[in-house]
Amino acid sequence: MQAHVYAIPMRNRFRGITERQGVLLRGESGWGEFCAFEDYTDTESALWLDCALESAEQDWPEPVRDRVPVNCTVPVVSPERAHEIVAASGCRTAKVKVADPGSPLAGDCARVEAVRDALGPSGAIRVDANAAWSVDEAVRAISALDKAAGGLEYVEQPCPSVPELAQVRRRVDVRVAADESIRRAEDPLRVAVAGAADVAVLKVAPLGGVRRALRVAEACGLPCVVSSAVESSVGLAAGLALAGALPELDFACGLGTLSLLTADVVDQPLRPVDGWLPVPRRAPAPSADLLAAVTANPATSQRWLTRLDRIRALA
Ligand SMILES: [Mg+2]
Repeated sequence: MQAHVYAIPMRNRFRGITERQGVLLRGESGWGEFCAFEDYTDTESALWLDCALESAEQDWPEPVRDRVPVNCTVPVVSPERAHEIVAASGCRTAKVKVADPGSPLAGDCARVEAVRDALGPSGAIRVDANAAWSVDEAVRAISALDKAAGGLEYVEQPCPSVPELAQVRRRVDVRVAADESIRRAEDPLRVAVAGAADVAVLKVAPLGGVRRALRVAEACGLPCVVSSAVESSVGLAAGLALAGALPELDFACGLGTLSLLTADVVDQPLRPVDGWLPVPRRAPAPSADLLAAVTANPATSQRWLTRLDRIRALA
């Protein structure tokens, strides 16, 4: 199987990284993308590889819709910049990163107010705390952010643990979405049974591909949002295949993330138009020129190929 290691600079720091790296794999029926973040263990990363192999070697399940609404993402930026990002996106839903180290609540509220101003009253605003708060901090911050937003659609992963999510959920009126808590196929059930969330955020790669993620969605019984792991268009296509195949889709998906990268590998990037993305039947093939432009340096390539071999050997 052909493997191309890429390194694409990001527009803003995300999860502590400034460059997205991964491997594009060419298989029997097309392409797949393996880009497990480096803090994932080999066992966890094996699911990401399963997702890439499903994309490169199999057909995806039949979609039930041909396009999906997506949110724009507002990183920790000034209110002015937040306003510009939302206005330029054409999306009716915005996801605002909050609770970043060095980003005080007042700054988060100012950013959320600017986002509301850009969206108008009919738009939806969700915030993502990436597990940063204690229960008490979450309750205080959610109430302030809900007020600043003139109503939040939901708050994503306010606290680290499932019991904490359940406590927050009992103390606030805003819906709670579980993201980091849903990492492996057995977790979503736990989230639902614990009464810890109103919404499940599904990422197709850490769940092991479109088929497995569909089973997770069914098992957890919660409304689902499909989000990306900030892949190139090759990996985003798998997330869109999942969003396209979910029986119900009540919320905009977090798949409009190509704008977080400074480059892509395909000629027709999966970039939202007026807040929508098409559901592809297979991953788009990289163009040789674009792939060459983002090829990783030899040391980075070797590190990823070694990691890939190690994870393959687990299967
Ligand atoms: Mg999240």
